[in-house]
Amino acid sequence: MGAPFNFSAGPAMLPAEVMKQAQEEFLNWNDLGISVLEISHRDPAFIRLAEQAEQDLRDLMDIPDNYRVLFMHGGGRGQFSAVPQNIAGPNSTVDYLNCGIWSEFAIREAKKYVQHVNVVGAAVQTDQGKAIASADAWQLSENAAYFHYCPNETVDGIAVHEIPDVAAPLVADMSSNILSEPLDVSRFGVIYAGAQKNIGPSGFAIAIVRDDLLGHPQGNTSTIMDYTVQAKERSMYNTPNTFAWYLSALVFQWLKRQGGIAAMGQMNHAKAAKLYDFIDSSDFYSNPVNPNYRSIMNVPFLLADERLDGEFLQQAQHAGLLGLKGHRFVGGMRASIYNAMPMAGVDALVEFMREFERKA
Ligand code: PMP
Repeated sequence: MGAPFNFSAGPAMLPAEVMKQAQEEFLNWNDLGISVLEISHRDPAFIRLAEQAEQDLRDLMDIPDNYRVLFMHGGGRGQFSAVPQNIAGPNSTVDYLNCGIWSEFAIREAKKYVQHVNVVGAAVQTDQGKAIASADAWQLSENAAYFHYCPNETVDGIAVHEIPDVAAPLVADMSSNILSEPLDVSRFGVIYAGAQKNIGPSGFAIAIVRDDLLGHPQGNTSTIMDYTVQAKERSMYNTPNTFAWYLSALVFQWLKRQGGIAAMGQMNHAKAAKLYDFIDSSDFYSNPVNPNYRSIMNVPFLLADERLDGEFLQQAQHAGLLGLKGHRFVGGMRASIYNAMPMAGVDALVEFMREFERKA
């Protein structure tokens, strides 16, 4: 077996350097003689870490000053309910673009809190594969409190690469593509992400919220999900997930050492291109997504004969290529190639796929 490469969709691989650093300082953090797990979130040393993490994220994403960065509980799905409760009233209308499975869950959750949830468009089949309805076909509402979309659908491997140009504040679920390439944050009202792909441990989430959208939560919003409270309390209204915050801080520092998001973006595009080029060059493997809508983070692929799926996964595992099983809703295979996946992992996967095809 070669070096293991973990293609899991999330929780996903973390940079080896980060894991090693966490291990080395696990029992004695910051020369305090105790673990970061054991220290108060109000301790000045932890506050310094928390503030540095926020600053590093601001630097990496070039987040303008009129945005709050919130470190939240409850992962991506927690934000599915936080968004409507914080950004819309119960009688509001909100627009959702249905890009795939995670969009559908977000829509279902929004319906609990907002009376009019308008789905403006959805996935469509084109000659070149699956795509998202183009903007000119969207049925936008007159006065939507916000427009929500998921620019990278993790299960479907489908992406909306162009930022929608709509009048309502734009809300994006970037759980699986945050920090993957340069982004103009100023186009958005809210960006949120569950942490377990490009940031850190699961159960943790980051929300980046424009100031003017704060101050109007619905009356029965649970306090830990209240953006306005969390902004005021610097995400420490209650005890935050300190270990997740710490690990995320290490990942942000690692990203800076890699040359930031511009460098990551180049690498991510190169990794994805290599994998898609190989899949497209083969009759044995296929990807169901229109090339203009392909994700650079999650690459689903099918074998020509699905009876070989089990054998493929078993041999891949044996070769040290882990986590390649597609989502249980769609089957097939999926290679998630987030920031922490080196080019060597994609090379090893392509080599394995080529060999598997040859022997099949
Ligand atoms: N949104 C997207 C795009 C996701 O990929 C996921 C999880 N894979 C979620 C939301 C849900 O995240 P969580 O499991 O942290 O609630």
